[in-house]
Amino acid sequence: MQNRRQFLITASTAASYSLLSRTVSAQAKNRTRIILLGTKGGPTLTTRTSRTNPATLIVVNDVPYLIDCGYGVSRQLISAGIALNRLRYIFITHHHSDHNLEYGPLLYNAWVTSQPIKIDVYGPTGLAKMTHDFFEYQKFDIDTRIADEGVSDPRKLVTVHEFEAAGTTMENADVKITSCRVRHPPITQSYAYRFDAKDRSIVISGDTAYAPELAEFAKGADVLVHEVMYLPAIEKLIKEHAASTRLREHLLASHTSTEDVGRIAAQAGVKTLVLTHFVPGDDPSITDEQWSEGVRKNFRGRIIVGKDLMEI
Ligand SMILES: [Zn+2]
Ligand SMILES: [Zn+2]
Repeated sequence: MQNRRQFLITASTAASYSLLSRTVSAQAKNRTRIILLGTKGGPTLTTRTSRTNPATLIVVNDVPYLIDCGYGVSRQLISAGIALNRLRYIFITHHHSDHNLEYGPLLYNAWVTSQPIKIDVYGPTGLAKMTHDFFEYQKFDIDTRIADEGVSDPRKLVTVHEFEAAGTTMENADVKITSCRVRHPPITQSYAYRFDAKDRSIVISGDTAYAPELAEFAKGADVLVHEVMYLPAIEKLIKEHAASTRLREHLLASHTSTEDVGRIAAQAGVKTLVLTHFVPGDDPSITDEQWSEGVRKNFRGRIIVGKDLMEI
């Protein structure tokens, strides 16, 4: 009898554990995820750090939403466990090449999986021409494969949605995505994106100088993923290269120092700040502490110094 009661207790405990673990895994599966694919600012390639060029992934209800396509993004998606035939939505923040150099090749790489799904792409003016021009660049190969291998036409799989003003970018049952114009001279069409999913709100700054309107846009978000520049390293760089005063001017006018990133996060009142798009991103001597100390002067929340393939 005791054995039987023991058995029943054990069985019912096991059943509730199993139910619990199923619920937990269902929640984990549907939880909105952020995966940093590339965290180095600028178009240069480096082996001095493990950072690759800019790209960020948000996964909502198991559907990937890719923000920016820096060089190496296809490989980074695969490394993050996202098969390229799952690619569904792409968002471009602005048309500096560290954010779009692999845009066309990524469309191509998704197409040659032979099971690509429809891809919707959103971004500022110039995106439609860039898409068309990439398919022209690969026209010989694409036309050959269509005729020779009977594959689908990739030009019909991609829908481009260009915009030249901030607003609602797209909305579906899982997520609402809005944009905010940020400050990235001389580029005027540079945008931040906000993802409001059921369980999480996430803001991606794109490239920007200190922009109080971005803090307003990010109000109440759970996570702010913000670009960052470490001024002491910039000064060092300038001293080593006397001819780079114009580079210094460009960097200071169009990116955000660690102190100012902290200011924006504090004004926005976000819980978690994730640093990405590190400038310089190829200097291994800059420690995580150095990246965060300036931020911490102005922001009391959680600071995460981003790394490639880190999930938040
Ligand atoms: Zn950039
Ligand atoms: Zn830029």
